[in-house]
Amino acid sequence: MKSFEEVSDFHGHVCPGIALGYRVSVCALKELGERAADEELVAIVENNSCAVDAVQVVTGCTFGKGNLIFRDYGKQVYTFIKRLSGDDGAKAGDGIRISVDWKSPEETDEEKKMWDRYMKGDRSDDVVKVVHNRKARKIGVILNAIDEELLKVTRGKMNLPEEAKIYPSLRCTSCGEKMMEPRARVKDGKIVCIPCFEESIGRKRLSKIQ
Ligand SMILES: [Zn+2]
Ligand SMILES: [Zn+2]
Repeated sequence: MKSFEEVSDFHGHVCPGIALGYRVSVCALKELGERAADEELVAIVENNSCAVDAVQVVTGCTFGKGNLIFRDYGKQVYTFIKRLSGDDGAKAGDGIRISVDWKSPEETDEEKKMWDRYMKGDRSDDVVKVVHNRKARKIGVILNAIDEELLKVTRGKMNLPEEAKIYPSLRCTSCGEKMMEPRARVKDGKIVCIPCFEESIGRKRLSKIQ
């Protein structure tokens, strides 16, 4: 299992989000077995926050491999599904849905005051110290809580999303760069990429305004 240090090294800083992502990922692997060396495990994440970096490092589900799927719902929900049966007993289609349900520790009056000052741009030593300590306290609570205090877990058979496909590429007649076929657009009977297509729409809108 990857350590929390490995996760925060990858992420670049230590924060409550990465700590939550770490707890989610460890919980998932406890149920579904090993980290995905290839595409044997799929993760569906419903936000694109710090936590997702932990999912990538710990579970091996990454954006580039296509086994990390981002659904932009703005929810702290993570679903992991086994694509292939493992030696560890988990079978193809076995899944776990983890919803983070956690309330951060109550803020003290001093913490509230300092946070207000921090948000207004105050970076004096006493402000930074209180803000920093509050963050460290949150991270400590997250890392030391039991699963039940942080996570609502549902288990069962789940439908696998379609596998990442490889498409032929086409060349944009406007900028000359290549794109994959399903992303091609047609403008005045010519094949163009999305940025060139949108640029032409933008220009049309502009000329209407003028
Ligand atoms: Zn972060
Ligand atoms: Zn183009």
